[in-house]
Amino acid sequence: MTKVCVIGAGIAGLLAALAADEAGAEVTLFDQLPGKATPVGLHYLHDPCGLDLEPVVVYNIVLADDSDKSEPHLQYAKKLNIPGDNSLKDLPLRVDGWNLQQAYNLLWERFKDRCEEHTVEPKQLKSLVKGYNMVVSTIPLQRLIPGVSCFGREFKAYLGRPPGMSRALYGNNNVVVYNTDMDYDWYRYSCINGLEWTEGLVKGDHSIIKPIEPEFKNPYPNLLLTGRWGKWKRGVLAHESYYEVKQRL
Ligand SMILES: Cc1cc2nc3c(=O)[nH]c(=O)nc-3n(C[C@H](O)[C@H](O)[C@H](O)COP(=O)(O)OP(=O)(O)OC[C@H]3O[C@@H](n4cnc5c(N)ncnc54)[C@H](O)[C@@H]3O)c2cc1C
Repeated sequence: MTKVCVIGAGIAGLLAALAADEAGAEVTLFDQLPGKATPVGLHYLHDPCGLDLEPVVVYNIVLADDSDKSEPHLQYAKKLNIPGDNSLKDLPLRVDGWNLQQAYNLLWERFKDRCEEHTVEPKQLKSLVKGYNMVVSTIPLQRLIPGVSCFGREFKAYLGRPPGMSRALYGNNNVVVYNTDMDYDWYRYSCINGLEWTEGLVKGDHSIIKPIEPEFKNPYPNLLLTGRWGKWKRGVLAHESYYEVKQRL
């Protein structure tokens, strides 16, 4: 039987475990704090990965700065000091998504007995790739392979809405509001299934890292680096881990 080990039991690791389980593999997960992954500012799944999940319709709204004649995605890039090739570039007004918290709860129930509380250290990697047919890592890349220079730009987030924001504007709709105006210190507000997050440049007790991709070649053919932190890559979405494992097995 194919043996798969998944490092990190956040939503990406659990979706990877699902794909491996569905392929008939024997799955083991390791997490330093099992069942406690905190999705900061997190929104929704962009694909249900075959799970029976509540659909979530999301409206994207951009508050652009009219005094700046450049495109909103370029204003956003300037405000956040990120590349112009960002998520605002071709942002659709409406997105069909799926309830991510529900997916996490469902998957955690399915895999909690196969998840060991264990902090994986870089020195273990060699024995893991030897002992398993496939090792899937979703933990921050530099925690697994410390020589890789993983940088990132740090932002802040807090639960709740920015000052002056009125929910009456959006009714009961799920929204993600982008604000490119330099006069505001927040750049994104979201309210999905009633959970409100504000992401800002400076204020907030949660940290959000936008990874800057390292130059790095994975030396192990049976090691799959997946998820935003596992790949250390901007823009990676949770459901991609499910399809990457599915494709490999
Ligand atoms: C603001 C923001 C919004 C996002 N919105 C979306 C969205 O709408 N949809 C979407 O699909 N994606 C979104 N993402 C991207 C990404 O899917 C999410 O960040 C997602 O929560 C990441 O889940 P994860 O499982 O990769 O990481 P985590 O939830 O961080 O899980 C990693 C797990 O690894 C464990 N761990 C860490 N180190 C070790 C170690 N050494 N040994 C063992 N265990 C360890 C941790 O305890 C944790 O449980 C967003 C990201 C950000 C920052």
